[in-house]
Amino acid sequence: MNYFSYQNGVLSAESVSLETLAREVGTPFYCYSSETLTLHYKVFSEAVPKDSLIAFSVKANGNLAVLKTLGDLGAGADVVSGGELKKARAAGIPAERIVFSGVGKTRAEMKLALSERIYQFNVESEPELELLNIVALEMKTCAPVCVRINPDVDAKTHAKITTGTAETKFGIPFVHAREIYKKAASLKGIEIVGVDVHIGSQITDLEPFGAAFARVAELVKDLRIDGHAISRLDLGGGLGVPYERNNEPPPDPEAYGRIVKHATATLGCRLVFEPGRLIAANAGVLVSEVIYVKQGDAKTFLIIDAGMNDLIRPAMYDAYHEIVPVREPAPGAPRIAYDVVGPVCETSDLFAADRSLPQLKSGDLVAILTAGAYGATMSSAYNARPPAPEVLVKGDEWGIVRARQDHDDLIARDHLPGWLTS
Ligand SMILES: *Cc1c(COP(=O)(O)O)cnc(C)c1O
Repeated sequence: MNYFSYQNGVLSAESVSLETLAREVGTPFYCYSSETLTLHYKVFSEAVPKDSLIAFSVKANGNLAVLKTLGDLGAGADVVSGGELKKARAAGIPAERIVFSGVGKTRAEMKLALSERIYQFNVESEPELELLNIVALEMKTCAPVCVRINPDVDAKTHAKITTGTAETKFGIPFVHAREIYKKAASLKGIEIVGVDVHIGSQITDLEPFGAAFARVAELVKDLRIDGHAISRLDLGGGLGVPYERNNEPPPDPEAYGRIVKHATATLGCRLVFEPGRLIAANAGVLVSEVIYVKQGDAKTFLIIDAGMNDLIRPAMYDAYHEIVPVREPAPGAPRIAYDVVGPVCETSDLFAADRSLPQLKSGDLVAILTAGAYGATMSSAYNARPPAPEVLVKGDEWGIVRARQDHDDLIARDHLPGWLTS
């Protein structure tokens, strides 16, 4: 469910016409809906036990205005770098709602997180545990730790976003869990608080969640027998969203919540969740203008002014995104199969192949849907194309929440060394 719909024949975000925004902001641009973010957060929070911490995954959408919208509703943040930690804090999310995940935390990032007194570190390896212990002792403090367990469960999603099998770099293998907890207990700079698991992203089948949660629930019991105080269970993120209108809808948060409760009811743990995509994906669209319609020998190309530098998901994950005209097509309007492509000089700069769309012409606007997660955060300036700006809408109000960079901004980042200027 989202708040993008045709109003008076024009696709609108809540009450703001995307045509108006395109005129005011220029194309391409991302547009997010506050009401949609809010709705998704509420639906998820109502599906899981009441006192849970819902730590929004900042890597899905790190815009300060998005983080503040969610933070004001009570969300925390799941961060995977010092930069994300600072963004979450800058958006006003309290440190006691921040968890720090990721396989490559540096000493500097550990120091930052310890000085902020974040809620928890999700530790992914033994060397990381050792370094965190040293840094905490140097700072005369103690790091609250969950160890991320790799349950060796296949999430049945795209290989590039599978994280819970033995072949991936994530977490500690399930069979070594008890050893590493024993080691953690011997370290004075480490306070064991719980267990963490995250098996992947865009998961549309609930069974892998059930299998993974059952495994970690067993582990919690074993760890308690070993004498560890396990009071938290972090179940990660990963719940999928509908990218294709006509496909079977992915599991709803209530069904996910039932699986969670079934696996964890008797443990008495505070639960932590790290949803990203579920909250943000359908709360954002990427609006772009048709530059040319190019008639090839074999195909008709719709060349738009957004590129893979703005939205890399199709190129990187073979992702499907709905594309719709911003002007509502008349019923029965003629349709054409287009390859929708960007201007970037890569064959993979392809948003959709053989996509049936109402006939379009140069200057028309299109919206790429479900682009609110892993869209702007993964954008780049490839081909010296400044990444698309971001707009947040609330009711009939809107604001530019990330300005468009101009070419001078891009050029100003480069410097000529002395031997080229003399
Ligand atoms: C990416 C990530 C998430 C968020 O995943 P979604 O599929 O967007 O919900 C949560 N936790 C960790 C550790 C991650 O790496």
